[in-house]
Amino acid sequence: MTEMEIATTDRRNVFNTDAIEQLRRGLRGASLLQGEGGYDAARKIYNAMIDHRPTAIARCAGAADVICSVNFARDNGLLVSVRGGGHNVSGNAVSDGGLMIDLSLMKSIRVDLQTRTVRAEPGVTWGEFDRETQSFGLATTGGLVSTTGIAGLTLGGGLGWLMGKYGLACDNLISADVVTADGRLLTASKSQNEDLFWGLRGGGGNFGVVTSFEFQLHPVGPMLGGILVHRLDKAAEAIKFYDSFTQTSPDELGTFVAFATSPEGERVMVIFVSYNGALEAGERILKPLRAFGPPLADMIGPMPYVKVQRMMDDAFPAGRQNYWKSNFLKGLDAEAIRVIVDHAANVPSPYSAIAIEQFSGAVNRVGIDNTAFNHRNARYNLLIVGIWSDPAAKAVNVKWVRDLWGAMQPFSSGGVYVNYLGQEADEGVERVKSAYGPQKYARLVALKQKYDPTNLFRLNQNIRPH
Ligand SMILES: Cc1cc2nc3c(=O)[nH]c(=O)nc-3n(C[C@H](O)[C@H](O)[C@H](O)COP(=O)(O)OP(=O)(O)OC[C@H]3O[C@@H](n4cnc5c(N)ncnc54)[C@H](O)[C@@H]3O)c2cc1C
Repeated sequence: MTEMEIATTDRRNVFNTDAIEQLRRGLRGASLLQGEGGYDAARKIYNAMIDHRPTAIARCAGAADVICSVNFARDNGLLVSVRGGGHNVSGNAVSDGGLMIDLSLMKSIRVDLQTRTVRAEPGVTWGEFDRETQSFGLATTGGLVSTTGIAGLTLGGGLGWLMGKYGLACDNLISADVVTADGRLLTASKSQNEDLFWGLRGGGGNFGVVTSFEFQLHPVGPMLGGILVHRLDKAAEAIKFYDSFTQTSPDELGTFVAFATSPEGERVMVIFVSYNGALEAGERILKPLRAFGPPLADMIGPMPYVKVQRMMDDAFPAGRQNYWKSNFLKGLDAEAIRVIVDHAANVPSPYSAIAIEQFSGAVNRVGIDNTAFNHRNARYNLLIVGIWSDPAAKAVNVKWVRDLWGAMQPFSSGGVYVNYLGQEADEGVERVKSAYGPQKYARLVALKQKYDPTNLFRLNQNIRPH
């Protein structure tokens, strides 16, 4: 027997060749070891800062492969990572050593026009999902960048342009098929394994591997979408107006603000908008926001929903270094905006941005106890996005993100969105708990104890069993 790797964590990462053969025989899809063709491409994720090398990668072709991989990892005491779209900046989709359960080839999507629902596998990205559902004029709330996976985004909550009208991605989840740590395939819905269904909607990948998602769809598009660009020295006035404007804006209007660098190298404040309703009504509602300033540029116009969903793709190519930090905000007071503007003026990388995301409408109306997602009453979320190309520039870029995050603490309401959390070693266990909130955390711990008592699924925003 040849040992493939030395154990490095509290879970064993040691494989032997007999065990690998056993895994290979059990899978319909491929399994890859270090040095084999395709291994390096399969281990890469969105954030190039993460350079982990699993001992083996199981490229699952269906639920049976997921069951085989989960059983194999559990029986051999291996560290497990689960990869959906591979977009999580924390890099939890891939481990150093252990087994990566790679779902990225599971791409089936089936729209049911009678019930206006869709079934999609966990390797599907939002671009693929929207392409399929929009062929029938339908959509559901999904991520703002088309290469993000439906899996991780939905399990953590799922913010998107349609959330004011239709709630979060997880609010549109009707059912999910889940492989639990003991290798069973369970369906979770309002009528089956209801406790698990509650936990999946905001509790992340803690309870098992989802092999199929069923979502409610809605008639959507075309829409009014685009951006308004303001000079940084006008940002304070513009954001004050924006704040009062959005207090009364209808559910159909989705907006958020980003402090970024223009293609010409100028620091600017950008208001992104999308109006999901009649174009004439959108023109009327957006008129005061478009008139204020006036902005340096107004690039708002009618567009298909799939184009709205790709408005930001160019700003987020895979393969750059990413370090993000986030917190919900109490509000947008003048001092908070001054701090943001000061830091925006000194950003070390033109790819970095400071986003203020608006929560409203249907997100806030879902009962707080209906799902594990815990931040229904938030109005704004702050997301500090550090992005740069040169790995050697890590220190200055990480410092910029941390400094701003620290300076914004007086304006924070304390909690954080699960999907924006970084690595636990960097964030600390208390921050992870604050993503779920104290009451929900206790309920989630009980659920973890029931479905994953040995914490097999620990490479996520981890809820520890008792
Ligand atoms: C460029 C960019 C844009 C983003 N935009 C948005 C946005 O608009 N709205 C928003 O809400 N969030 C957004 N996010 C955050 C995003 O929701 C999270 O990064 C999310 O985890 C990505 O899901 P994924 O499947 O692509 O990631 P992965 O990295 O593959 O997985 C993320 C986590 O989920 C677990 N997981 C993945 N698949 C499964 C599964 N099938 N079963 C169980 N566990 C699983 C993984 O183990 C990991 O812990 C964005 C992130 C990036 C980098």
